[in-house]
Amino acid sequence: MKKVQVEKRVTWAEIFKDITRARALIHKYRPQMVLIRWLRVIFDALTPYVGIYLSAQLIDELTGARDPDRLKILIWSILLSAAVIAVVSVLLNRWLLKSADYLWHTIQWIYGDKMLRMDYTDIDDTSRHELLEKINQNQTTGGWGIYHALYPFENLVSALLQILGGAVLTVTLFTSRVPDSAGSLTALNHPLFILLIVIIMLFITWLAPALSNRAGSYWVKNRHQHLMANRLSSCYFKLASQKELATDIRMYRQDTIYSKYVRDKKGTFFSKGEFAKYAQGSMGFLSSASATVSIIFTGVVYVFVCLKAWGGAFGIGSVTQYIAAITAVSGGMATLISTMGKLRNNAPFLKLIFEFLDIPNNMYQGSLTVEKRRDRDYEVEFRDVSFKYPGSEQYVLRHVNMKFKVGSRLAVVGMNGSGKTTFIKLLCRLYDPTEGIILLNGIDIRKYNYLDYMMIFSVVFQDFRLFALKLGENVASGRDYDPDLVTECLIKAGFGDRLKALPDGLETYLYKDYTPEGIDISGGEAQKIAIARALYKDAPFIILDEPTAALDPIAEAEIYSKFNDIAGDKTAIYISHRLSSCKFCDEIAVFHEGQVIQKGSHSELLADESGKYFELWNAQAQYYTEKETT
Ligand code: ADP
Repeated sequence: MKKVQVEKRVTWAEIFKDITRARALIHKYRPQMVLIRWLRVIFDALTPYVGIYLSAQLIDELTGARDPDRLKILIWSILLSAAVIAVVSVLLNRWLLKSADYLWHTIQWIYGDKMLRMDYTDIDDTSRHELLEKINQNQTTGGWGIYHALYPFENLVSALLQILGGAVLTVTLFTSRVPDSAGSLTALNHPLFILLIVIIMLFITWLAPALSNRAGSYWVKNRHQHLMANRLSSCYFKLASQKELATDIRMYRQDTIYSKYVRDKKGTFFSKGEFAKYAQGSMGFLSSASATVSIIFTGVVYVFVCLKAWGGAFGIGSVTQYIAAITAVSGGMATLISTMGKLRNNAPFLKLIFEFLDIPNNMYQGSLTVEKRRDRDYEVEFRDVSFKYPGSEQYVLRHVNMKFKVGSRLAVVGMNGSGKTTFIKLLCRLYDPTEGIILLNGIDIRKYNYLDYMMIFSVVFQDFRLFALKLGENVASGRDYDPDLVTECLIKAGFGDRLKALPDGLETYLYKDYTPEGIDISGGEAQKIAIARALYKDAPFIILDEPTAALDPIAEAEIYSKFNDIAGDKTAIYISHRLSSCKFCDEIAVFHEGQVIQKGSHSELLADESGKYFELWNAQAQYYTEKETT
């Protein structure tokens, strides 16, 4: 038989180290859950033996001395112990359900926390998302990962307890002697025979799960194919379920691209696929052999115990005790071995999770606090800043020098791809400069506490998103909000009329994801809500990245000129590739291929007829009305 290769053989020490780490992680998030699960494991493993032992005693008494007092005690003990076990079991279950449920949520919570705390550079890196998607797919397909660090590990402990309990009740099976009067059956007393029978039992007990584990390892071997097939089929589902895609799908019959992959008979989940061949061949054989071997074991136990009883070594009651106890020991051993196999098979999946959780935060985190100033006197300066995106060789910004005057209006203009958004991302320290330095009140921004530093900016990014939650919650970015302030911000942002018309006001849900009463909003309205959100934060810097996707030039110009009023005493930065939107600004910086090539007011820049601004202005002027271009 061909040996199935698991990519890298991990040592047992490593496997248990990773399991312990996974369990500690769950314990950190849900300490009570881990405790209750342990209680359940111990309880489930040991309680069956109470019944086995007491019933054996009862049968022996019935077939032996038949002492009425002892019989009474035994019957009461059986009834009482069964009742106590049942009650405790119900209580444990309730406790388990109440506080220990939602493991899936806990795991999602762990991954979510990691993503939220990751450096933005890593969030931007698609390989991080792919890694998380792989982890989630592994979890959905076979519970691989943290689930298997919990359940099988507990099964392992439970199996050990089960073996221990069963072994205690089985010792006398081997020590009780068949009387000499039993003739040839006295051979059962011979130590070599006992040794042989123990070896046979252990061998069969090992063989059944070993075969089953070997069969299970085909899943691990095929995990990459499964993962890809799962991704494709979930993509197929997304194609069918996403409203935004529905028109193109119908227009170009795009579903056929994916259906080719997900319905191919030779595909992973189909009858002619590679996995189906394993199931029909060696994997199927191994599984069936495992089941057969288990039955042989039961046969051997019955023969041995019955022969000893036949020879007179013990009574009928003990026969039931020994058979039940040995079957339990063997069941425990089988669980132990198959669980060990599962834990080994789970090891690469767990490694993947830790690869994700161990992604380091490389951005330097300073400890300086940003002083809260009523006068908003924060001066930010870019000093000879150059930048290239991680993994890219190309400079996107080169030698940028810029100082923001407090309370001023700065426009950043330039063609698409000239580096405007990147400039803002550096300002907000989503990335650190490759060369040069950014200063806040004369101090390198890296030295400030990051969260503190972020508090001085409100940015309406180009690709902002609103949540399908209540309008008020969206504006306040929180569940609790000041309704008067939210309303004020919405009115300032130009959403006042629409707000008045909403029957539930700030409590209205945006979109219909969670409720049919939710409202659909246009791109322009979404933009206004996003602006209100920026205003609610009340940060000293307010930045508006070009809302070109949502707005036409006229609407953009309208929002920008209105924004000039509502920005008040804040330092405002406007970004646009449409020059007309920004001409009211005190200063305009013209970006071209990552460099600031011109700076000045609209009239100054327009006066330079050889400059880029003049060229861009004239190129764009034809799109606007006469009134706007002058
Ligand atoms: P603008 O805002 O002026 O349109 P951007 O700052 O978005 O320009 O982009 C400037 C350049 O940086 C473009 O060439 C763009 O392709 C590149 N760029 C933007 N984001 C990334 C990224 N995450 N990784 C690599 N290159 C990027």
